[in-house]
Amino acid sequence: MKLKEKLNSLNDVEFLENENLTSYTTFKLNSEGDLLKIKSIEALQKTLSILNAENKSYLIVGWGANQILPAKCEEFIIYLELPFDSQILQSVKDEYLIPASLGINYLTAHAVKFGLKGWEVFTGIPASFGGAIYMNAGTNLGEIGSLVKKVQLITPEGKLREEVISSESFSYRKNNFVKPGEVIVSAVITHLGLDETIPQKIRDYLEYRKKTQPLSTKNCGCVFKNPLKELPAGKLIDLLQLKGVGVGDLRISPRHGNFMENSGKASWDQFQSLVNLINFEMDHFYGIEFELEVKIPYH
Ligand SMILES: Cc1cc2nc3c(=O)[nH]c(=O)nc-3n(C[C@H](O)[C@H](O)[C@H](O)COP(=O)(O)OP(=O)(O)OC[C@H]3O[C@@H](n4cnc5c(N)ncnc54)[C@H](O)[C@@H]3O)c2cc1C
Repeated sequence: MKLKEKLNSLNDVEFLENENLTSYTTFKLNSEGDLLKIKSIEALQKTLSILNAENKSYLIVGWGANQILPAKCEEFIIYLELPFDSQILQSVKDEYLIPASLGINYLTAHAVKFGLKGWEVFTGIPASFGGAIYMNAGTNLGEIGSLVKKVQLITPEGKLREEVISSESFSYRKNNFVKPGEVIVSAVITHLGLDETIPQKIRDYLEYRKKTQPLSTKNCGCVFKNPLKELPAGKLIDLLQLKGVGVGDLRISPRHGNFMENSGKASWDQFQSLVNLINFEMDHFYGIEFELEVKIPYH
């Protein structure tokens, strides 16, 4: 059987060839490619073992809030839509087993309802649970990795693997345990008890984010890593008076220098031009070249 037929024959897998992928990232740069929407862990196991046996590469997209897809994706794009029993978040538990595809906004809503201490650390971050764990997403209140106990992954051969989290498992905005080709399917997250001040803390932090970040625009979060913690990239871009500067439908956000906003049909080339312009100016005035924080496949 040909690869296409094998993929089409799988239950709980939707195989969409040359699909428009523009809406699969928050930045929404034009993109297309072969998409596999996977709706169960068993289906993911079968899909990965088929792709692995055929030597085909793939890329996982969660909410696409920290990655940019190129105009034409060469790899299969895997998007998870795993089942979730909403009863799990109806009451307080010591530990929660959550599927990777659930948006972490559901966890924040639960923390607001019951006052779960610790869960304020990921307030307002657009992410799937799996993407947040992969990136060890966090704010200046803390990181999600400090709350995760165990992670279940599917290996490229289609086997289930469990990682027990230790103090070495996460670093700043990265995990140290997902091996190439592995896909996070679920994880156990805990909390630090109940605290009645948490709901207000979360609401205040959401307000603060709304004021300081262009959250209603199409963007990919922070484009560059901060060269040093005390030297934020956005501040440096601001000092060079580059806020508001743009190319076509893309511009540096007037609100936050480390964000770029796509006002319509911005392209990959325009993104590259703006990155080059910022790096040219940085090098010229400060002798610094920024490193990208946003993930760009094949680069
Ligand atoms: C407006 C805005 C504000 C943001 N603010 C913050 C912030 O305050 N703090 C912060 O940390 N980040 C922030 N980000 C970045 C982004 O939200 C985080 O990095 C988030 O964790 C990305 O999750 P995702 O589901 O979108 O992952 P994606 O962007 O889809 O993927 C990110 C990486 O994780 C991998 N991945 C995703 N899911 C899986 C999986 N199930 N198994 C294996 N690998 C996987 C992908 O292949 C990719 O390499 C912001 C982004 C935006 C657009």
